[in-house]
Amino acid sequence: MSEDLFLKIINREIPADIVYETDSVLGFRDINPQAPLHVLIIPKTHIRTINDIRADHTSLVGELLIAAAAIAREHGYADDGYRVVMNCNEAAGQTVFHIHLHLLAGRNLNWPPG
Ligand code: AMP
Repeated sequence: MSEDLFLKIINREIPADIVYETDSVLGFRDINPQAPLHVLIIPKTHIRTINDIRADHTSLVGELLIAAAAIAREHGYADDGYRVVMNCNEAAGQTVFHIHLHLLAGRNLNWPPG
């Protein structure tokens, strides 16, 4: 899958169902949802994997979690609960190499995950 796929969504070069946006963060519905609510939350800055997060990204990465909580709250899942997941590299199933927080809600989520 293209390294630049999510940059293309940020730049509106390919369509996405955007549910959240700030100057630095974008949230849009996953094209292959794994729960009734499945949103991907990404920084507008390209960071390839968790391994590439630097100290100067601290605030930006924190904003991903702020966004997750805001989206979950807006969709009515804050009290029932939800999950956030970020996959790093192939063994964890990362397929798009621009970090993204998965926000999953609306069904019972098993633990441990597969
Ligand atoms: P990961 O496997 O953690 O890298 O997650 C990548 C996610 O991106 C998968 O859940 C895909 O379904 C999702 N995805 C791929 N292409 C698109 C797209 N064009 N719009 C929205 N979500 C996408």
